[in-house]
Amino acid sequence: MVEEGGLRENRLYVVIALVIVIAVVIAVVFSSREIKAAYVPDGFLNNGWSENLNERESSSGLFGLEKWCSLTYRIGGAYPANFTVATFKPLIMMDENDLIAKAQETIQDASQQGIVVDNNTETSGWRILNNGHKTSYITYDGNDTSKTPYEEVMVIAEIWNCGNSGTSIICIGVAQITDYAHNVTSVNTSSWEKIVSDRGGVLGFVGADGLIYNVVCH
Ligand SMILES: [Zn+2]
Repeated sequence: MVEEGGLRENRLYVVIALVIVIAVVIAVVFSSREIKAAYVPDGFLNNGWSENLNERESSSGLFGLEKWCSLTYRIGGAYPANFTVATFKPLIMMDENDLIAKAQETIQDASQQGIVVDNNTETSGWRILNNGHKTSYITYDGNDTSKTPYEEVMVIAEIWNCGNSGTSIICIGVAQITDYAHNVTSVNTSSWEKIVSDRGGVLGFVGADGLIYNVVCH
């Protein structure tokens, strides 16, 4: 009887020890998983661009172990545009192909909001941003079908991993380039240019104040 009681006690101690170890591991993991949203510094938000505070979002899954948050910037006027920077803190860093796939999925989902891209116009490439990161991007031509008449848009998704902060970044930009509603037949890429320009003009527009080019992630 004595021996059996001892065995039971031992088991109890093992269980208690396990619970403590698990609690410590969870505490350590949680404390190291604070997420800081990548953002565009205010100095680059000029000529009508501002953050859309209503679309500031954050969430966490897997009991808080996988977190994300996003900031959205926009410009109104005749050639409106939206630019979203989403920051993810996955348990395991995603590889670039997974990130691009996630971005592609997001763009296809945008059809629910009327942004329909022409998949035949997809282009892809890479560049180095002002923050030093090498990125991968894809672009599309498309239409905003939520408007009458439809207006033409250009769409970009650009992704990178930020080793310094342990985060993955996905940027999505959508810019309207036509104003058929006011019978303007020429294309105006000013909002698109603000989203994609960089010092080298990789996407066709040279400028040091591009929104993606100046994202701060660490
Ligand atoms: Zn970074």
